[in-house]
Amino acid sequence: MGKIKAKNPIVEMNGDEMTRIIWDMIKQKLILKHLDLNLIEFDLGMESREATGDQITIDAAKAIGEIGVGVKCATITPDDDRVREFKLTKQWKSPNGTIRNILKGTIFRKPIMVKNIKPFVRTWKRPIVIGRHAFGDLYRSVEYRVSEPGRTDLKFTPASNPDEPVRVKMFDFQSPGIIMGMHNTDESIRIFAKNCIAYAIDQKMDLWFSVKDTISKTYHARFRDIFAEEYEAEKEQFSELGIEYRFLLIDDAVAQIMKKDGGVVWALRNYDGDVMSDMVAAGFGSLGMMTSVLVSPTGAFEYEAAHGTVKRHYHQHQKGYGTSTNSVASIFAWTGALRKRGELDSTPELMDFADKLEEAVIENIEQGIATKDLLPLMEPQPSEHQTTEGFIDHVAAKLEEKLAG
Ligand code: NAP
Ligand code: MG
Repeated sequence: MGKIKAKNPIVEMNGDEMTRIIWDMIKQKLILKHLDLNLIEFDLGMESREATGDQITIDAAKAIGEIGVGVKCATITPDDDRVREFKLTKQWKSPNGTIRNILKGTIFRKPIMVKNIKPFVRTWKRPIVIGRHAFGDLYRSVEYRVSEPGRTDLKFTPASNPDEPVRVKMFDFQSPGIIMGMHNTDESIRIFAKNCIAYAIDQKMDLWFSVKDTISKTYHARFRDIFAEEYEAEKEQFSELGIEYRFLLIDDAVAQIMKKDGGVVWALRNYDGDVMSDMVAAGFGSLGMMTSVLVSPTGAFEYEAAHGTVKRHYHQHQKGYGTSTNSVASIFAWTGALRKRGELDSTPELMDFADKLEEAVIENIEQGIATKDLLPLMEPQPSEHQTTEGFIDHVAAKLEEKLAG
């Protein structure tokens, strides 16, 4: 049988540590064996980012913007320890942050579900996807510790009229305390709303957005209004697809998400999204089963696993010990990219391949073939776990059965 051919290229970004090892196995055993792909390769491994002064990350982001589809391996975000470990000339920024800033995209995290791993929240039957606004608010706030009585104001100086600043009184302190100032921009909120709407349409899932606008009548209300305007522009598409948009007060949304069977994209402000994405990930079971996609307002899609480079397992591997690292989220990053490429180019064979590869993964796990991280979550619990490579080999075998007929 000939290889399935993709009509247009995919941007492929390699990464670091254990996920880099997994990446090569997936590419060789599951992807290149069956597909004829034009991969535009960028090595985002730590050494390569250092050697190029991180230009390679910028180039990769631009290529995703042009080509429309990317797939990325997990990468190290250097901290002080990594600067020493890799003798870096600079503490390079998070590649994901760089790519997100260039594409002005939003990240959506989606759990991969299998029958024999029950979410901790028993009503959840379908995925819940969190879309987090990754700009401003708490993460760009300024703070001040007040040590004596005094008055505090918010002050805005208009560029057009710097001599007449606007002041809003905040509080009269009689004793020590704390102050914080936050901001956001209409442009960033609007792009976020567009990204969430585009993703809900792409996935044919309901969209929720929630803030505390009953209390924050200007700040949170601005988010609500921009979302409403952007939804208004895409309303017909929603009704054609039979999906709905709901604005909910955040307390109401938190209570309702527990009772819902899933199948919703939940858009949240920066802090809410940070907190709720960890809650939802824990509620579904495992970080090894969480994929993530960056969606840009211009319609570019970048797929990756939500977890990191699994450093502890890599150190085991380097010492020559066997590992049992979950490759599911990385495999689903590939299937996400392949399916999107197929969809954009009208190549149903490619979309069908992505479906078969996902089925091969899920059927193996449902038959009790899984890596160590999943065993405590599985019902019934298998008596033994697979090695990193052993699991991928099982997937490869099942995929071949499916492709054969
Ligand atoms: P991590 O890679 O997410 O792993 C943390 C722990 O979670 C692992 O030690 C392992 O637990 C478990 N785990 C995560 N993924 C797993 C998988 N696929 N299979 C089995 N177990 C898995 O976080 P980290 O080790 O703290 O961070 C390593 C590097 O990743 C850091 O340099 C960080 O900057 C980077 N990072 C990158 C991304 C990204 O590129 N998207 C995201 C997050 C972190 P046990 O040790 O208990 O087995
Ligand atoms: Mg968090």
